[in-house]
Amino acid sequence: MAFPQIPAFAGTPGVIRLVGHRGARGVLPENTMEGFEFTLKTGVELLELDVTATRDGVVVITHNHHLTRSMVRDADGHWLQGAEPKVSALSYAELQRYDVGGLDGASAYGRRFPDQAFLTGLRIPRLADLLALLQQPQHQNVHLLLEIKSDPDLLEAPPARQALVEAVVSEVRQAGMQPRTVLHSFDWDLLADCQRIAPEMPASFLTQLPENADEVGEDSSKAVNPVAGCTALDLPDRVAAAKGRFWCPYYLDITPDSLARARALGLITVVWTVNEPEDIERMIALGVDAICTDYPGRVQRQLLMHGLHWRTT
Ligand code: MG
Repeated sequence: MAFPQIPAFAGTPGVIRLVGHRGARGVLPENTMEGFEFTLKTGVELLELDVTATRDGVVVITHNHHLTRSMVRDADGHWLQGAEPKVSALSYAELQRYDVGGLDGASAYGRRFPDQAFLTGLRIPRLADLLALLQQPQHQNVHLLLEIKSDPDLLEAPPARQALVEAVVSEVRQAGMQPRTVLHSFDWDLLADCQRIAPEMPASFLTQLPENADEVGEDSSKAVNPVAGCTALDLPDRVAAAKGRFWCPYYLDITPDSLARARALGLITVVWTVNEPEDIERMIALGVDAICTDYPGRVQRQLLMHGLHWRTT
């Protein structure tokens, strides 16, 4: 199938694509409308985001399955105390009481992003809010790498997993955004559901080899990522066998050989999450299709210094 989404993510001579990870997490609160709007203003046209659903079935943009005290304040402006509520146990109205506009600088997670702006009054957005923004004429070239978060508590509950995929796909279709959306996950069984339910959208297979460490202070996806025993060079063939069109390896896992193999298989390779200048430099030298980063400005500047760009127009 010729997917119209693919050229937007494919590198070309002189172009390495740039994906804003959760917007631009290094500089503005992640997965917020404010972060996405800022990222679009910088000329970045590819956005990565994470979705799950509330108790009442509203698809919302957030990464962790539980509201996390390092990044969430309660209605009184205090960092969450006690148990961290699960997003899927809250209604959308209840979720709106929480503020996700900043990080607790004393937390391990907050220390990872010391320059992130601290804002007040930001809410977890609905997927529908972002899709509505992207209907505007100035955003017609924007494409989404839409990550569906797999709930480890639901691994034995296929109907509930499928219901989340159906809800996400339904929203994307209502907005007419299928030609601009790629469905992305660490959970390859969930991606098989995506391929069956939404054959018009390519599936993007995330990988992280077990030997490389989880990212500090956030939910790990290793429990749902079926790559135990693989080497980097195995991964592109595994993705191709699952009829994936995108391979999204952790940036410490990718090798020149595995990238060449992905190329030979016709896969689009998007590396995540590449933030440090020396790592960005290494990914540019490798010649990946796209770099997913918390710091779009850093990648833009390094591409420009090489006479490269992140867009064709
Ligand atoms: Mg993600």
